[in-house]
Amino acid sequence: MTYPLPMGRKFPKISIDLTKCTVPFLCKKCLQICPMAIFNVARVMSKEKRLEEMDPRVDGNYVLHAPRRDKCTVCNLCIDICPVDAIKIEVPKQERSKVETKGVQWSQ
Ligand code: SF4
Ligand code: SF4
Repeated sequence: MTYPLPMGRKFPKISIDLTKCTVPFLCKKCLQICPMAIFNVARVMSKEKRLEEMDPRVDGNYVLHAPRRDKCTVCNLCIDICPVDAIKIEVPKQERSKVETKGVQWSQ
C-alpha cells in the first residue's frame, strides 16, 4: 500500500525591506493588524547605547522582525496595510513523499 505523507512542512517566508520600513516603532500597522501576532519590534542596540532611551522617530533605531512566521496564515492583511510596501510573503511548495508499507494479505 502507498500512503502519501506530508513531510517537512515549510513555513511562509516573510521578508521585510528595511530600507522602506525605517521607523517600525512609530508605524506598527502590521503589528496591530496581524491576527497571529507574527511581528515584533526590537531596539537596535549598540554597546554604548544599551542604557539610553532610543528615539523611535530616528531611522534604524528599531527594527521589525517576524519571529513567529510559522503561525502565518497568509491572510495578506499586513501587506495591504503597510504604507511603504515593505512586506513580501512567499509560500513554499509543500513537499510530499511516498512511503512504501507492506500490507498483510488477508487469508480466506
Ligand atoms: S499574512 Fe496575515 S498572518 Fe501572515 S504575517 Fe501578515 S497579517 Fe499576519
Ligand atoms: S506596516 Fe510596513 S512600515 Fe509599518 S511597521 Fe509594518 S512593515 Fe514597517
